[in-house]
Amino acid sequence: MRNWTIGKKITLYYAAVLIAFTAVFCVAVYFSAVNQIKDTARTTLTSAVDDGFEHIVYDEGIIQIGDDFQTNYRGVAIIVYDETGVRIKGSEPAGFPIYTPLKSGEYHQIETGGENWMIYDTLKVYENGSGIWIRGIYTLDSGFASLGAITITVMLAIPGLMIIAVIAGGLIARKSMRPVAKITEAAAKINNGHDLSLRLPVGKSRDELYRLAETLNAMIDRLETAFKSEAEFTSDVSHELKTPVAVILAECEYALAAADTEEEYKEALSAIQNQCRRMNSLITQLLQVSRTINTGKVIEKHDFSLSDLCESVTGELKAVAEGRGVSLSADVQPDISFNGDETLIMRMLINLLSNGIKYSDPSKAESRVKLRLYSVGGSTAGSGPSSGDGAAVMEVRDNGIGISDADLPHVFNRFYKADKSRTRDSDSSSDSAVTDSFGLGLSMVKWIAEAHGGSVRAESRKGEGSVFTVELPIN
Ligand code: ADP
Repeated sequence: MRNWTIGKKITLYYAAVLIAFTAVFCVAVYFSAVNQIKDTARTTLTSAVDDGFEHIVYDEGIIQIGDDFQTNYRGVAIIVYDETGVRIKGSEPAGFPIYTPLKSGEYHQIETGGENWMIYDTLKVYENGSGIWIRGIYTLDSGFASLGAITITVMLAIPGLMIIAVIAGGLIARKSMRPVAKITEAAAKINNGHDLSLRLPVGKSRDELYRLAETLNAMIDRLETAFKSEAEFTSDVSHELKTPVAVILAECEYALAAADTEEEYKEALSAIQNQCRRMNSLITQLLQVSRTINTGKVIEKHDFSLSDLCESVTGELKAVAEGRGVSLSADVQPDISFNGDETLIMRMLINLLSNGIKYSDPSKAESRVKLRLYSVGGSTAGSGPSSGDGAAVMEVRDNGIGISDADLPHVFNRFYKADKSRTRDSDSSSDSAVTDSFGLGLSMVKWIAEAHGGSVRAESRKGEGSVFTVELPIN
C-alpha cells in the first residue's frame, strides 16, 4: 500500500467509508422499519379493541354485544371472552396458539410456527361484577414480509451500486490527480533539461493545485533569478579582476624584457602595487557583499539607538571627509531607537556617507555632505523614543557631481558604475572607508534596507548633487 498512488488510496478510503456508512445506514433503516411495523400494530390493536368495547352495551344488568360488532377490524382479529376466559364471540386466526393467557393492558408479541403475532388484551368489569375480555390479534407477518422483500432487494442492489460508486470514485480521483501528473512531468522536464526558463502548468480552476503550481513557479522564478545573478556576479567579478591582472602581466613583461634602470623597475613595481591594491580592495568589498547578502542567514536583530549610531559614524568619517576637503555634518533627532542588525545598518550608513565624500565636486568652492535622521508617523514620531507604526528616515545629501537621469535608475544594481571616470585606479590612500569604486556599495545598501522591511531611493541632478533616502519601519 506504501507504493500506491494517491488516486488508489483515495478510492480505497472512499470505498471503505462508503461501505461502512451504507452498512450502518441499512442496519439503522432496518431497525427503524421493524419499530415502525410494531408501532403501527400497537396503534391498530388499541383502536380495534376500543372500538370493540364501544359495541358492547351494558343495560339493566345485562351485557349485550351489538349486532354491528366487528370481529375483524382493520386486519385485527377481535375475540370476546367472559371473565373466566371462555370465548363468547370471534375466533382466533388459524395457527394462533389459543391457550395464550389473557393479560390486561399489555401488548405482547408471540411467535409460533414461523408466524408472528402482536396481541393486546383488555378486561372491562361492569357494574354487575361481570367482566368482559376483548383480545385483539394482529399478524406482523405481512409487514415483516414486505420488509424482508425490501431487504433482499437492497442487499442485491448494494454490491452493484457499490461497484459503480467505487469505479466512479476511482475515475474521479484519477481525473483530479491528473494535474499532479502534469506538474510532476513538467518538473522532471525542468530538472532533466536544467532549463529554469520553463514553468509548471497552472491549469484553469483556482484550486489547491493551482496555488501549488503558482507557488512552485514563484520558487523557480527566484531560483532562475538567483542562478542568473550568480552567473552575472561571477562574470562581473572576473571582468573586474581581468584589467588589473592584465596590467600586472604587461608591467612584468615590460620589466623583464625592457627595463634597464632602477627607475624603470621601480615604475613597473609601483604600477603592479597599484593594481594589487585595487584587487585587494575589490576582494575586501566582495567579502563584505558575500557576508552581507550572500550568506542567506537570518539577520540578527536587537534594539539599539539609531541616533547614537548616526552620530558615531559621522564622527568617525569626519576626518576622512576633511582630508578630501568635504565638510561632513549631521542633524540627528535624538532618541530614535530601532530594532535591527546594528552592524548592517552601520555598513549602510558608511556606504552612503562614503559615496557622498567620494563623489564630491572639486570644482565647487565648498563640498558638503549632510546626514539627517528623523522619524515620521507612529505614536511618538518627532519626539522621545520612537515606537508604533512609524519609520526612521535617514537622508544623506551632498552637493557633489550628481548622477545623470540615464544612470539614476541603475545605481542600485550590482557592479553598476555611473561615473566611470571616477573609478580610481587605486591610489595610495589609506582611508578604507572611501575605497575604490566597483559599483557594489549601493546594491548592499538596498539589500540591507529591504532586509529590514524598509526601502531606499535616490534623487539626483548631474552637477548639483544627490540625496539618498532610507526609510526603515519602526514597529
Ligand atoms: P561604487 O561607489 O563603489 O562605485 P556604489 O554602488 O556605491 O558603488 O555606487 C554606484 C554608482 O553610483 C557609483 O559608481 C557612482 O557613479 C554613483 N553614485 C553613488 N553615490 C553617488 C553620489 N553620492 N554622488 C554621485 N554619484 C554617486
